[in-house]
Amino acid sequence: MRRKLAAGNWKMNMTPTQTKEFLKEIAPLVKGAESEVLFFVPAIDIPAAVEAAAGTGIGIGAENFYFEDKGAFTGEISLEMIKDAGVSYVLIGHSERRTIFSENDEWINKKLLKAIECKMKPMLCCGESLEIREKGETLSWIEAQIRSAFNGVSADQAAATVIAYEPIWAIGTGKVATTDQAQEVCGMIRKLIAEIYDADTADKIRILYGGSVNPENAAELFAQPDIDGGLVGGASLKTSFEKIVKA
Ligand code: PEP
Repeated sequence: MRRKLAAGNWKMNMTPTQTKEFLKEIAPLVKGAESEVLFFVPAIDIPAAVEAAAGTGIGIGAENFYFEDKGAFTGEISLEMIKDAGVSYVLIGHSERRTIFSENDEWINKKLLKAIECKMKPMLCCGESLEIREKGETLSWIEAQIRSAFNGVSADQAAATVIAYEPIWAIGTGKVATTDQAQEVCGMIRKLIAEIYDADTADKIRILYGGSVNPENAAELFAQPDIDGGLVGGASLKTSFEKIVKA
């Protein structure tokens, strides 16, 4: 049985002070939740988040890192730094990193391999633009992203990775994918994992939906057979995220 996962992605929001206040408020609301609860936070917020989340069951993840160990990479942080700060999850391949910061498939593969090497828990994002969807090329686009990201990853390593399917046109737009659209792609990703690896790996891997998830639409999306929870941006900045966790 795959454990459901409700993950927040704060993006460039929340100061360290706000981080502590928010986690103090939400921790009792999600205490004892059946699903795993996790927030990806900006690097500067990591120490405050790790401290505030200690003993609450809430996991803390890093929104970004660089795949080299150390050196002349001004402005970047390494996995050793993140790990030392007490973080276990890392987000890879978010569409904002791909489009605004020009991260390509080669980088994303390097990041996934590095995260696995460093024994971090990676969450890999994939998703199509509106243009790709309208051309009817969604499934082949997602397949190419997944095949490239998982190049060199073993079956056991893949099973421990979380995939987040996030149609770009649904991120931060309020325009959520229909449950059928979300299930179709998440189901196709699971079939693809079975094809690349085997049925057991496909059965173990968790696949989330992300894109304008909110307390009203979460339950229907998460009830789909191949959707194991959500990656949530805007709605993870409010304590009503509790309702998404419970959905
Ligand atoms: C995201 O940032 O991954 C996301 C899905 O954002 P939102 O929920 O705001 O659409």
